[in-house]
Amino acid sequence: MITYQAPKDLVQRVVLKDGRYIIPRADGLLLVGSTLEEAGFDKTTDAAALASLKQSAEAILPALALCPVAHQWAGLRPGSPEGIPFIGALPEWPNVFVNAGHYRNGLVLAPASTHLLVDQLLGREPVIDPAPYQPTPERLINT
Ligand SMILES: Cc1cc2nc3c(=O)[nH]c(=O)nc-3n(C[C@H](O)[C@H](O)[C@H](O)COP(=O)(O)OP(=O)(O)OC[C@H]3O[C@@H](n4cnc5c(N)ncnc54)[C@H](O)[C@@H]3O)c2cc1C
Repeated sequence: MITYQAPKDLVQRVVLKDGRYIIPRADGLLLVGSTLEEAGFDKTTDAAALASLKQSAEAILPALALCPVAHQWAGLRPGSPEGIPFIGALPEWPNVFVNAGHYRNGLVLAPASTHLLVDQLLGREPVIDPAPYQPTPERLINT
């Protein structure tokens, strides 16, 4: 991701195009995202990602070519090998619960996955079948 230092009100809404987006932030910076690569626990950034994001942003809004990039950084999207999050107790430590591996959808899935986790924590009837999400030894061994 990058942010641009841009004139106030240059962009007033989220703009999506060709898998990229420009988001006006409350602090006045314009956020442009995002690239995607499989890199493990590595938050380093590189010039290729910067160039790619600038190219997308400036194709959407040519005026951004005149604006300085304020910041470049990377976030992680932890995921499970088969794309299903881990929600439940760890097999060896049944008093330790995880809710992780949501990859690109952790924000939108948070209400539902938290509901499922809390049902298990409180011993309630689960809102959906928790079996596919359990961090079983078989699933963990492939992680
Ligand atoms: C560029 C980008 C865009 C995204 N867009 C969307 C979107 O539009 N919609 C959506 O639903 N999701 C989106 N996501 C994905 C979403 O951000 C993640 O799925 C979500 O943040 C995962 O939440 P989490 O709590 O599991 O992990 P995280 O948010 O990664 O939280 C893990 C926390 O644990 C801490 N931590 C890690 N290791 C240790 C340690 N050893 N000791 C102590 N603390 C530690 C970290 O500092 C962090 O605070 C996006 C992600 C990125 C990077």
